Amino acid sequence: MRQARTNMAGVALPFALRLFFVMSSPYLELLPVPAASSINTGIDPCPTSLIERKFGLPITGKLPADCAAPSAASAAWQKRFVLEDVGPFRVTGHRNAVALLRTTLSAVKTEKPKLYTALGSAGMLCMRHVRGIPGLPSNHCFGLAIDFYIEGKLDRRGDGKTYAGLLELYSIFKRFGWFWGAEFRTEDSMHFEVGSRVVRDWINRGLF
Ligand SMILES: [Zn+2]
Repeated sequence: MRQARTNMAGVALPFALRLFFVMSSPYLELLPVPAASSINTGIDPCPTSLIERKFGLPITGKLPADCAAPSAASAAWQKRFVLEDVGPFRVTGHRNAVALLRTTLSAVKTEKPKLYTALGSAGMLCMRHVRGIPGLPSNHCFGLAIDFYIEGKLDRRGDGKTYAGLLELYSIFKRFGWFWGAEFRTEDSMHFEVGSRVVRDWINRGLF
């Protein structure tokens, strides 16, 4: 009788491969962020100083480093904020931005249905200052920006790399006037904010 010999490599490799395929997703591949000159072309970031000048900050006093409760917003700003379903998740933000997000995600669902199912929200409205810059309101303060999870994972800020899923997402978000945070001095590729042209249009038409 021939006895089968245990081959460590033969046993371990299939297991490692299976684990690899379970754990990995093409959307989690880390890619270098494209050159700043090649992204956000024709789109400027959200005009937060203009918003602050015209409408004030949503909360009085010093901006906290972490998100203040939405209930802390002034009455005027609370009227602008909504909690709504945008397809893959529910989110709280400025009503116009939430509507634009829903339209944009609907295009993602049609054009990239697999990517759509990989998306999660890491937050939209968050009344705080920009990380590391006290006093400067983040555009999350006004509910005009959203951070995305890809397959439940957050891309690491500032490493100059981005998940392949975020790069694909950007190609659709750009068409709807969103500015991608990959271009920030501290690269923040999970972050998308409503671009200047769209926000100024809402303001000019009295829709803000
Ligand atoms: Zn963000």
